Amino acid sequence: MTTEQRYDTYSLGNYAKAPLTLLRGRGVRVWDERGREYIDFIQGIATNTLGHCHPYWVGQVQAQAATLTHVSNLFRNEQQGLLAEALALRAGPGRVFFCNSGAEANEGLLKLARLHGRELSGGREGVRHKVVCALNAFHGRTFGGMSATPQEKIQGGFRPMLDGFAFGEFNNLASFEALVDEQTAAVFVETIQGESGILPATMNFLQGLRRLCSERGVLLMLDEVQCGIGRTGRFYAFEHHGVTPDAIGMAKGLGGGFPIGAMWIADKYAGLFKPGSHGTTFGGTPLACSASLAVLDVIEREGLLENVQALSAELHPRLAAIAAAHPAVFSGVRGMGFHVALVAHDNAKVVAALRTNGLLTAPGGNGAVRLLPPLNLTRDEMLAALAILESTATQL
Ligand SMILES: *Cc1c(COP(=O)(O)O)cnc(C)c1O
Repeated sequence: MTTEQRYDTYSLGNYAKAPLTLLRGRGVRVWDERGREYIDFIQGIATNTLGHCHPYWVGQVQAQAATLTHVSNLFRNEQQGLLAEALALRAGPGRVFFCNSGAEANEGLLKLARLHGRELSGGREGVRHKVVCALNAFHGRTFGGMSATPQEKIQGGFRPMLDGFAFGEFNNLASFEALVDEQTAAVFVETIQGESGILPATMNFLQGLRRLCSERGVLLMLDEVQCGIGRTGRFYAFEHHGVTPDAIGMAKGLGGGFPIGAMWIADKYAGLFKPGSHGTTFGGTPLACSASLAVLDVIEREGLLENVQALSAELHPRLAAIAAAHPAVFSGVRGMGFHVALVAHDNAKVVAALRTNGLLTAPGGNGAVRLLPPLNLTRDEMLAALAILESTATQL
């Protein structure tokens, strides 16, 4: 059997057939089984924050793997404390729980909402448990995540969902105001809707949600799984909006390619979780946390937030110019920093043509061709990707 046949025979058929087998990566580039080189603007879906195999990240992971890998949460470990401190330093006074994925981080948030609702109801469960989410959201594939994700392609075949979810229209504050009632424990939205095609929350919407939640004693929980960890040019995307949430879910970019998720909870609510109330075997291992600490170190040392800000100030107008020059292919550009998409009339066709021409991009909802470069992209690499975008648009 070839590698391809073996994969396609034994891996569960829950994904569309893959177009390539990838063997090797370095920085923004990857190579396939035929030795063909690609500029990778997917990066594991906004996950390889430092690109592929950043030497410092590799060194830290290797050293930690040879020192202490996993001890469970029956014991403290140094790296988990350091990482929790670093995330809280950036989010505000609070505490952090570690897990392994975005869906798990969001499960933690939904459990927080239940605990908060119980507290508000004088210790009675099930009275105040509603969570108001957004239409077109994506929060993951667990039952909690699916229940918060009102899309047929996610929920179909798996019903019944959990109850207690209501859905407002993203960026329509009035629709959320109408749904937050005396049964509501939390509002839960993505700061930038990622899978739905990179739709940022507006300033008015997020600030309005903050006000609404504070007035009604409801938690504001933000899913930063895709847009967080520097991707927008600020460490957390909500920093652009000047709001502080009560809790945050993060994952994807946090480990720079190593699986890790986290839930940050503001001090005021962190005490709702008591010993034994939540847990995981693998969360916060020394190995996963050292990978993540390496990501945060490099973001600081190499000035990557500034790099994203500087390059995206050039990237976005250039993308807009490509879209404007090819109205038969593209209708516009959306996003912030390196969390950005060209909007295409037929995004699957554009993604396939770009791949043929050596640029990997990720399709998303609402016509998005997502461009998710590593935060340490260089200007030359950006220009090489733009040249492929331009020439592909001309061919289509
Ligand atoms: C990817 C994603 C998730 C789910 O993360 P997994 O690690 O795949 O479980 C949740 N929320 C958002 C916004 C995401 O982009």
